[in-house]
Amino acid sequence: MLCLTVARRRVLVDCGDDWLNELAELAPDAIVLTHAHRDHAGGLRQGAACPVYATDETWARIARYPIELREHVSPNRPFDILGITFEAFPVEHSLVAPAVGYKIGSAGHVVFYAPDLVSIPEQADALRGISVYVGDGASVTRPIVRRRGATPASAMRRSGSSSTGASQKA
Ligand SMILES: [Zn+2]
Repeated sequence: MLCLTVARRRVLVDCGDDWLNELAELAPDAIVLTHAHRDHAGGLRQGAACPVYATDETWARIARYPIELREHVSPNRPFDILGITFEAFPVEHSLVAPAVGYKIGSAGHVVFYAPDLVSIPEQADALRGISVYVGDGASVTRPIVRRRGATPASAMRRSGSSSTGASQKA
């Protein structure tokens, strides 16, 4: 999770299981999701008292969550939340939970945020003009890359295989 604070108002990027029943304490004004994995969206399983922004692919995977204020994000179409500009870029991460990273701009500063990352197809556009990149793509206990149709066990045997267009984290 990333917590952006501007003039005492908060925008969260992602809200994992850890925040289930704890959201009132943070009192965010808006929440933006990168993807539907529970460690990024599971904190919303009981809803949210603020608008939530996500792509149609993510909404389809968390349709059962009782979120009332659903905003739809389209990749490569910048939008504004409380004076912060967001632009979503599809990233390679998961076959079952397609993900985006966000280019986030405020007061002349631009950050790119992409958790659980394998690669950024539109890397040049995504990273152009940024001053900070926040991302991760590592795992301590198992490789994060496996091929479409492969089981986690077969991916383990192939650890060290590099990413291709068909290789993404489950
Ligand atoms: Zn994930």
